[in-house]
Amino acid sequence: MVFLKIYHQIDDYPTFWLYLSVPLLALVHDTYFYWIHRFLHLKSVFKHGHRVHHLSRIPTPWTAYSFSPFEAVLMAFFVPFYSFISRYTI
Ligand SMILES: [Zn+2]
Repeated sequence: MVFLKIYHQIDDYPTFWLYLSVPLLALVHDTYFYWIHRFLHLKSVFKHGHRVHHLSRIPTPWTAYSFSPFEAVLMAFFVPFYSFISRYTI
């Protein structure tokens, strides 16, 4: 049984889907990021799961990658999460 939906041929879906899927992906990712970020700011999670990121005071290209392994796992989980929900919704 296939749990993830990834297609490899661009003509597997109509052309409009290519143009619609990009903003849809951005919308779903922003929503995912928003709720994950709110979760990381819970008092019981912040100290061990997100504090490292907020210790970066001066914005540099590396600041975006300044986070704990726990937060990295949550962020990396988006791709299988999106592929999984796509399997059952699109
Ligand atoms: Zn934060």
